[in-house]
Amino acid sequence: MGECLLREGYRRRADSKQQTASSKGRQSREQNSGRWSVHCELFTVNSRTYAAPMDVDLAVIGAGVVGLAVAAELSRTRQVAVIERHGGYGLETSSHNSGVVHAGIYYSRGSLKHTLCIEGNALLYEWAAAHGVRARRIGKLIVAVDETELDALAEVAHHADENGVPDMRMLVGRAALDEMEPAVRAVAALWSGSTGVIDQAELFASYGASAEANGAWIALKHELTSVERRGGGFALGLVGPDGGETSITCDVLVNSAGLRADRVAAMLGYGLDGAGGTPPMRQTVNKGRYYDIVTPEKARLLRHLVYPVPDHGKGGLGVHVTIDVDGGVHLGPDTEWLDDGAELDYRADDSRRAAFNASASRYLPWIEPDDIAPGQVGYRPKLQRPGGPIADFLIWRDGGYVHLGGIESPGLTSSLAMARRVAEML
Ligand SMILES: Cc1cc2nc3c(=O)[nH]c(=O)nc-3n(C[C@H](O)[C@H](O)[C@H](O)COP(=O)(O)OP(=O)(O)OC[C@H]3O[C@@H](n4cnc5c(N)ncnc54)[C@H](O)[C@@H]3O)c2cc1C
Repeated sequence: MGECLLREGYRRRADSKQQTASSKGRQSREQNSGRWSVHCELFTVNSRTYAAPMDVDLAVIGAGVVGLAVAAELSRTRQVAVIERHGGYGLETSSHNSGVVHAGIYYSRGSLKHTLCIEGNALLYEWAAAHGVRARRIGKLIVAVDETELDALAEVAHHADENGVPDMRMLVGRAALDEMEPAVRAVAALWSGSTGVIDQAELFASYGASAEANGAWIALKHELTSVERRGGGFALGLVGPDGGETSITCDVLVNSAGLRADRVAAMLGYGLDGAGGTPPMRQTVNKGRYYDIVTPEKARLLRHLVYPVPDHGKGGLGVHVTIDVDGGVHLGPDTEWLDDGAELDYRADDSRRAAFNASASRYLPWIEPDDIAPGQVGYRPKLQRPGGPIADFLIWRDGGYVHLGGIESPGLTSSLAMARRVAEML
């Protein structure tokens, strides 16, 4: 996988809400950090100087929404360090997504995606209310545009019912639809009242703040470059912002490296293809592009999230409408499988305008190519192969190592539930 070209808008947005770190004082020294008396290194985060532990109970690789949720949960009872290669939280997948608090409608019954999504949905709204994170339970409609889609819609409704998704109801006929979403072309729609949207940057900043308040140490601009098993635990080799090398040790290692989770597993010597008792951990990458509806009077026609009946074989939920917490209206994401090692370019591109317009105009008949402009781009880390069966999240423990693999959607929604699951495993 090549170097990431991060979308500047998101970098600025996330950076403005959080701190950036630079490490100082490369030599380890004996120092009292206040909570622990261990070998320390000094790190400066804005104007505060941290005495960073060189030996912790638990290290989390990755300060995305999942790694930070794990850190917030586990730092309540353990000494935790989070290692993040970028200068801010959540700069990869956690800030390049739809920000939807999913309801758990589509996932295979009993799967981690199903159970963690339903549990995570409730936990996320609770957390948002308690921590001042903006979230709106805006609701979503899955629409059948004509009679040929009614069976598929009924199947989605049946599946949602079996999954125990709360607050679902079928709307049939124009009168019911006009009341809810008059500008959408459909003959019937499935309403989900527990679906909503959340401010992703506020969410992961709140997880980070909670972890830090519990005494966790979050090392930004530090990349994990090697892992060695040592004395029942792990020695982690890190490269800091000035290229200097340092290392810390930990008893437990949680790999929450998102798109690079398989690379981190490989550092530990695991085969990635499921041989020798280890689960398959090799990830594929699936690109998702968005277009924004930029004609204000057209964007204002929409009141809820609107999804077509899904085609799971394509790796996503179909080009849908999301409305973010600021009221911005977006179409997408689409799906495109990338070749192994392809460069991840987060810059918006305008290569799919016609395809987006065609997909959206099935249920938004008034949309014109000039009403949309290219928006953000995100990358899904998947355990599914192109054309292969849908894969579940992988949460796998091997002694002191916990692997979080294939954390695509609904990973944001599931973040707190996933953190609890990791805590239960340890
Ligand atoms: C297009 C798209 C739309 C989505 N929409 C939704 C949605 O609406 N709702 C929902 O619930 N989910 C959604 N998701 C899924 C959700 O965004 C992810 O599941 C979630 O953000 C994953 O978080 P994470 O912490 O696992 O990964 P990431 O956010 O990718 O974090 C991993 C971190 O690990 C760091 N890292 C990697 N390797 C190293 C290393 N060697 N050393 C140090 N740091 C390292 C990275 O820099 C990164 O910051 C969507 C995903 C995509 C791509």
